[in-house]
Amino acid sequence: MGHVIRNLLALQEVDLQILSINGEKVSLLNSINEKRSQLEKQRGEFQEQEARLKQQKVDMRSLEVELAESSTHVRKLESQQVHIKTNQEYKALDREIYEAKIHQTRVEDQLLEKMEFVEQENIQIRETSRELDARAPELQQETSGIEEKISQIERTIEELQTKRSEVSREIDEAALKRYERILTGKSAPVLVPVVNGACQGCHLVVTAAVESVLRRGEADIITCENCSRILYIPDEEPE
Ligand SMILES: [Zn+2]
Repeated sequence: MGHVIRNLLALQEVDLQILSINGEKVSLLNSINEKRSQLEKQRGEFQEQEARLKQQKVDMRSLEVELAESSTHVRKLESQQVHIKTNQEYKALDREIYEAKIHQTRVEDQLLEKMEFVEQENIQIRETSRELDARAPELQQETSGIEEKISQIERTIEELQTKRSEVSREIDEAALKRYERILTGKSAPVLVPVVNGACQGCHLVVTAAVESVLRRGEADIITCENCSRILYIPDEEPE
């Protein structure tokens, strides 16, 4: 194995570490965002619940007004009874009072039902509010633990970046550029061993000519014709 490949392999090792630790960082960030958006969603639902309750209270008040009006109406009709002259008039008024009372009872029932509903909703909203109040500091604690891990990862990435520039300095510019180009265009790894005559990047068999050039070390960089990754023969080939 030539020194170009050896140095590129050293660079790739650092890059693979950076990639893997970066992946860890992304999934930690995602988990924080998920937790936060979950709480936001719960808050949104709570606000909707509050708005619904507010509307129910408005409805309750209109029913209260309607009931007061209905009672007044019944009383007014009853007070008219003393002035009735004929039997027919009495019957008609009696009928009107009867219907007004039925209406009053219906409004009363509706109001009672509404009051019960509002009472239940009030209890539930207080409960949800307590839960949300407790969840906020809980979430704070959870995310601060994750944020600490992320800072550690960022420090490690910085160290790896320093190491990367050190390793890069050992590689000639053309080889480095070629490596970088493959890294941007392909998924890692950039360098893959040839094992049992096959490229370990795409598992296609390389030609005998390519393998023999690789074995003789006649060229610094040989790429796979199929997947364009840089090929090398490992020092210790598996049996
Ligand atoms: Zn390949």
